[in-house]
Amino acid sequence: MILEKGFIDNKMLEQKLEKHHIKPTAMRLLVLRQMVESGVATSLRNLEAKFDKADRATLFRTLKTFEEKKLIHSIDDGTGAIKYALCEEGCECVPKDQHLHFHCVHCKETYCLTNSKIPEVQIPTGFIAASASMVYKGICANCS
Ligand SMILES: [Zn+2]
Ligand SMILES: [Zn+2]
Ligand SMILES: [Zn+2]
Repeated sequence: MILEKGFIDNKMLEQKLEKHHIKPTAMRLLVLRQMVESGVATSLRNLEAKFDKADRATLFRTLKTFEEKKLIHSIDDGTGAIKYALCEEGCECVPKDQHLHFHCVHCKETYCLTNSKIPEVQIPTGFIAASASMVYKGICANCS
């Protein structure tokens, strides 16, 4: 979901947080706005660079809260830094709700491929899948 900049008012962001039972604090609204506007997955380091007045622990807690409430999902794109991106409406962050990601080796951005769900695979009896991760690597449209 990529929204056009300038069309995101705080009311909308507040509603999004409340829907996920997250109390809308100023910090949370700022982080959410940043994630909605950027349209790509972001890392903690990335956020730190954007909010130079916020400390790392606060930002980390904000991301963890968002993740626990299934507002965002974390992505291990193989770069070593966990990235975070907004979930789709109604996402429960279980394998059937998860999608593929694309990591651009040139600009290092990671994109959600929300139209491509993780394919269902045969899990052996007795195994319980909690999450799945599938990352394509290559060159994104901005870099090709
Ligand atoms: Zn999710
Ligand atoms: Zn790129
Ligand atoms: Zn994603």
